[in-house]
Amino acid sequence: MQSSPEQESVELPYRVVSEPEWNAAAAATASVGVHPSEELAEVVVVSGPCPRCEHHTVFSERLVAYSDMLGAGSGRRGLLARALRRAAARGGRRDIEVICSCGGAHPDAGEESGCGASWVLTVEWGQ
Ligand SMILES: [Zn+2]
Ligand SMILES: [Zn+2]
Repeated sequence: MQSSPEQESVELPYRVVSEPEWNAAAAATASVGVHPSEELAEVVVVSGPCPRCEHHTVFSERLVAYSDMLGAGSGRRGLLARALRRAAARGGRRDIEVICSCGGAHPDAGEESGCGASWVLTVEWGQ
């Protein structure tokens, strides 16, 4: 389709950014799956359009085996992810930090995938 030139010809550069309004935008468009079941939630899979680049992106978050992830969770989301994990232990509700991992081309992405955008989606299950 040629009717969306902003999506076809202008490539957003990779940037690590988040905007408060993306949380609401993503909540309206994302689909959330809980696996293997709502009663035994181990992994939450969030999919939908990225609120920044509008490419389709899929993000999965493990709810269990936190100890395996603590060591690997360093880097830019380490601290936040650790705080979220602690909060998640209280019940079937969790604020998930979703990071764009679209397959689209974004200049300056280097070894990263996605456009660098992140947003927070509140997920509830089994209640
Ligand atoms: Zn994106
Ligand atoms: Zn993208």
